[in-house]
Amino acid sequence: MTIGERAARLERTAAQIRTCKRCKLHQGRTNAVPGSGSVSANVFFVGEAPGAQEDEQGLPFVGRSGRYLDQLMENIGLDRDHVFITNVVKCRPPSNRDPRVGEVRACTPYLERQLGLIRPRLVVTLGRFAMEQFIAEGRISEVHGQPRRIEGTIYLPLYHPAAALYRGSLRSVVESDFQRVRALLDDPGALLGAPDGLT
Ligand code: URA
Ligand code: SF4
Repeated sequence: MTIGERAARLERTAAQIRTCKRCKLHQGRTNAVPGSGSVSANVFFVGEAPGAQEDEQGLPFVGRSGRYLDQLMENIGLDRDHVFITNVVKCRPPSNRDPRVGEVRACTPYLERQLGLIRPRLVVTLGRFAMEQFIAEGRISEVHGQPRRIEGTIYLPLYHPAAALYRGSLRSVVESDFQRVRALLDDPGALLGAPDGLT
C-alpha cells in the first residue's frame, strides 16, 4: 500500500470513529477523539481515554497532561507532526472513570487498524491502562521504562504524564524514561538484546 493510500485509510478510520456508536460512550461525548499525527510516524503514543478538553476539541492530549506531554517530547526532539497520539478508547467516559471491558473491546479494533496502517517502530503506552492492552504481566511501578519487542514492534510502557503531575516525585522518573524513547529511536539494538521479550 502506498503512503497516500495508508493516509486515506487512516482518515477514513477517523471519520468512522467520529460517528461511531458501537458502545455507550458515544452518548456522553461532544466529540470523539480519533487521534492525531503522521501516518509515517515512527512513534505511536497510546493514552487511556479523552478527558474534558479532548472531548471539547476532538483532539488527543490537549489539556494539562497534553501540555506536559508536549514538553516531554520537546525535550527529546519530537513534535506532534512526527508522531501519532491516540487513546485506547476514543470517547470520553463519564466523569473520567476507567473505560469498561466492553467499551475497550468495542473500541480496540480502531486502535489496531491505526497501528496496522502506521506500523510504528515504537509503541509507547502512557499509564497502566494502556500498558495492559499490550503487556499482560507486570506492574507499571516495576516495568516502566523497560522496552520489550513483540513480533518486531518495540513496546515501551511509561507512566501517564498525569501521574507525574499529581505526584511530583515521579517527574524525574518520567523524564528519564522519556530519554529511552530517544535512545530506542536512535539505536534499538542498544537497549534490546533478545529478539523477543525483555532486555
Ligand atoms: N489523558 C489521556 O489518557 N488521554 C488524553 O487524550 C488526555 C488525557
Ligand atoms: Fe465507538 Fe470507541 Fe466511541 Fe465506543 S468509545 S462509541 S467504540 S469510538
